[in-house]
Amino acid sequence: MEIELNSVVSFDYVLTAPDGRVIDQSSLRPLTYLHGSGQIVAGLERQLAGKRVGDELVAKVPAAEGYGERTGKGFSVSRAELPPGMEPHVGMPLGARGPDGQAMTLFVVEVSADGIVVSSDHPLSGVDLCFAVTIRGVRAATADERTHGHAHGMDGHDHSHGH
Ligand SMILES: [Zn+2]
Repeated sequence: MEIELNSVVSFDYVLTAPDGRVIDQSSLRPLTYLHGSGQIVAGLERQLAGKRVGDELVAKVPAAEGYGERTGKGFSVSRAELPPGMEPHVGMPLGARGPDGQAMTLFVVEVSADGIVVSSDHPLSGVDLCFAVTIRGVRAATADERTHGHAHGMDGHDHSHGH
């Protein structure tokens, strides 16, 4: 079957930056996602539509359709304000609340003796992405997966996420 809305898809990939540097890749097993749910970056999801098992493609995804453009905006947080025992490192994601109380993720962009600088810019924001993809599996989503809005592993029985 072809990948369409509510397909559960697994695929192997190698993600590279414009300079050829490998950013990420599937290693032990393929990545599995629910098509149309926004589980993977928008620009890649759109290019996988209509593909079948065994198809290979190179999907170029501009930053705006990947992890967004870089705003370059950040703010400082002093050591005293960090949770006890926290060992921040550059690229570390932090759960936070936005101005309207909405959940959002901030990323550590700088670490110094005095504190850290955090930003809403994803570490891969501003980077044009290139995915070399091989489709490994395509099936229809189960009713549970449609309700939850995500895939439960390629066999449909992975409920390890706890709901
Ligand atoms: Zn679920």
